[in-house]
Amino acid sequence: MLYRNPKSWQLGIARTITFIVTKDCQLACKYCYLVGKNISERMSFETAKKAIDYILGHEDKFREESVIFDFIGGEPFLEIDLIDQICDYLKTEMYRLNHHWFNSYRFSFSTNGINYHEKKVQDFIKKNASHVSIGITIDGTEKKHDMNRVYKLTERGSYKDVVKNIPLWLEQFPNAGTKVTVSSHDLPYIVESVLHLYSLGIHEVNINVVFEDVWQDGDNTIFEQQLIKLADIIINQGYYKDYACSFFSENIGKPMDREWDNNNWCGAGKMLSVDAAGNFYPCTRFAQYSLRDKKALIIGNVETGINENLLRPFLTLDRCTQSPEECLDCEVASGCAWCQGENYDAAQTNTIYQRATAICKMHKARVRANNYYWNKLFRKLELEGKRDEFEKNKKESNPTIC
Ligand code: SF4
Ligand code: SF4
Repeated sequence: MLYRNPKSWQLGIARTITFIVTKDCQLACKYCYLVGKNISERMSFETAKKAIDYILGHEDKFREESVIFDFIGGEPFLEIDLIDQICDYLKTEMYRLNHHWFNSYRFSFSTNGINYHEKKVQDFIKKNASHVSIGITIDGTEKKHDMNRVYKLTERGSYKDVVKNIPLWLEQFPNAGTKVTVSSHDLPYIVESVLHLYSLGIHEVNINVVFEDVWQDGDNTIFEQQLIKLADIIINQGYYKDYACSFFSENIGKPMDREWDNNNWCGAGKMLSVDAAGNFYPCTRFAQYSLRDKKALIIGNVETGINENLLRPFLTLDRCTQSPEECLDCEVASGCAWCQGENYDAAQTNTIYQRATAICKMHKARVRANNYYWNKLFRKLELEGKRDEFEKNKKESNPTIC
């Protein structure tokens, strides 16, 4: 059975509400930002129910036309029974309340893919067929994937257990994309990883470098070389017609106007996350298990609701209020991303208004390779007289970063 492509559903106009159902995972990925994973903090149905009662009971605070109920962990499918119970309750309550989200909702999952094939998970997918979005994370070749994505107890790589579920996933979600995270020591494997994912039948590879300050001298050169090599292969072998890689985007690498181009990068503050303790956060990146050096930034809980005063600082975040002058005047600013949670964690004080710029050299390297890619591709298309046809059909990957 085919299910709808999850990625583009109501992009930007839906409210995202995240349930951190467990802080446990089978894996201990070496780049994982979740520093506080553990097996004890599992959400109870009672807590989830209180959160739902608060959210659905306050339509005035949650006015967006649509909603994405996002389930994360750890590994969310470890809690498939609870998730099933939560989703049943959400559906019956939205119906009972004649809520404006009834029939305009999705259940979204980011999973490591290990137990995707299990009966309970498959039964859940079938039961909620037209409302489910699932992304499986696979990092590329076996070697690259297993460098980072290892079982926590044995340190064995998880590639084989994930890749066996990819055909089933793609059969159900043929347009689904995967998310790849690149850190310093993964840089030499970018080309082979992206091509490997294409060879598995994944047409959309959303790939990002981490925001944390992990970069070594010379990493930007390796990155640029890899991207130029990848650009040559994508263009020479015609992958650009049917496949997308988020490293290459026509919209990045341009100056940005302070007045007209001043949005915050992400939706922190306009989203809502709830954890096992019943605390609310502006995004899961502000929960304690996501933070290295800072205290959790809690904006309320399921008993007392959202404290609007604690949420207020997020509502005035934009590019100008948090960026240094160097970024505001930057000639290649567009597409240079930040994560609000990482900004908070990396700042010297407890502020969310200090943009972390550890990816600066990496973004500039990406822009140089990106310019190479589009110049080369457009020259080829113009020589072949196919530029107009390409513009009509072009497929660009979704620039989301989290
Ligand atoms: S971090 Fe660097 S590349 Fe990004 S906007 Fe700032 S100056 Fe430009
Ligand atoms: S960029 Fe960071 S803070 Fe913003 S929504 Fe994503 S994880 Fe949350």
